[in-house]
Amino acid sequence: MVEVVGTAPTSAMVITKFVYRRSWKSNIINIKGIKTDSITFMKLTKEQLEEIKNQQSQTSKTKRVSAPNLEKILYEAFPALDHGFVRVVDYMGDDTSIVQSARVSYGKGTKQVSTDKGLIKYLMRHWHSTPFEMCEIKYHIKLPIFIARQWIRHRTANVNEYSARYSILDKEFYLPSLENLAAQSVNNRQGRGDVIEGEQAKEVLNLLKNDAERTYHNYENMLNQRYDGSAIDENKKGLARELARMNLTLNTYTQWYWKTDLLNLMNFLRLRADSHAQYEIRVYADIMLDTVKKWVPITYDAFMDYRVGGTEVSAKGKVIIQKLIKGENVDIDSSGLSKREWNELMIAFDLKDKLI
Ligand SMILES: Cc1cc2nc3c(=O)[nH]c(=O)nc-3n(C[C@H](O)[C@H](O)[C@H](O)COP(=O)(O)OP(=O)(O)OC[C@H]3O[C@@H](n4cnc5c(N)ncnc54)[C@H](O)[C@@H]3O)c2cc1C
Repeated sequence: MVEVVGTAPTSAMVITKFVYRRSWKSNIINIKGIKTDSITFMKLTKEQLEEIKNQQSQTSKTKRVSAPNLEKILYEAFPALDHGFVRVVDYMGDDTSIVQSARVSYGKGTKQVSTDKGLIKYLMRHWHSTPFEMCEIKYHIKLPIFIARQWIRHRTANVNEYSARYSILDKEFYLPSLENLAAQSVNNRQGRGDVIEGEQAKEVLNLLKNDAERTYHNYENMLNQRYDGSAIDENKKGLARELARMNLTLNTYTQWYWKTDLLNLMNFLRLRADSHAQYEIRVYADIMLDTVKKWVPITYDAFMDYRVGGTEVSAKGKVIIQKLIKGENVDIDSSGLSKREWNELMIAFDLKDKLI
């Protein structure tokens, strides 16, 4: 452990050296292919692997509840995009904590798994929120800055980001894989269309790579320091890190610890694991969904059922569906729905022949 100054001038905080690692290094170990469940490990330095191993080998006795399947992957770094990752570094509570708080009981909360399941489903179905706030989870995330900007809009988490005033940012940039290099969508101003291919794809990737490398090179020059901390010119002063960083591209990776409760995590996942969310944030949300499954399996099932797999229907939409069930004719003009609402409703109920 190292003691470092946090982002607030007065706060001294303790962070593992892992946060301050430099992964653009020759001692990267390729452990690709080793799997925990369905997820492949990312490339990490020897030092980082050692730190994770140390964390994983520690055990402490506790009287609190724990989630065995989450314990198995605690501290593990699951790869996201080309250089990012998601690690669960701490958590509090499990499914029984939700039941316990809903019943305000003295004991563990469990009567029978089937009763607990029924209660959790009921809470989820009827939007009873606070029992889900009794469980908390803390992640260590490494992500490109442009994705961090979307992520930070979720205000109900506690965040501590890697300080680029204090340390030099890693020399790592997100470059989309070819299949994710899409053109601007023509019918959705916020989305992607067809994949860009061939020479144009190569050109785009080169531009992204060259610009990121050039600005990073200039960042090092301004700092008068290389990414590994070595001085470029002993006779020169370096520009302050807090200023030099402004020249970096948005695909540069940053990191943070992100702690939230289960209710707000589900809100985050509902929005960011959804097909409307940008692919790059969805990659992270999908990994986190898997951690929720390991942590609170009953809640996960209810969440997938009512929130992710379910759909919201307006009063007008409900009338349309009721008429369809009765075999009555429906049409958009008398429905009171906009074309977009109408099509969303038809897609939700897989009525593709009714799309207009
Ligand atoms: C597909 C997609 C596209 C988006 N596009 C844009 C865009 O173009 N521009 C843009 O600016 N944003 C955009 N966003 C961000 C979006 O508008 C939300 O800001 C973001 O998703 C955070 O959601 P949230 O407020 O529910 O989350 P949180 O901040 O985590 O809040 C969780 C819940 O807590 C409550 N809450 C939190 N803070 C308050 C408060 N101050 N007052 C009252 N209730 C509060 C609300 O019930 C809220 O739903 C987009 C998001 C998605 C998923």
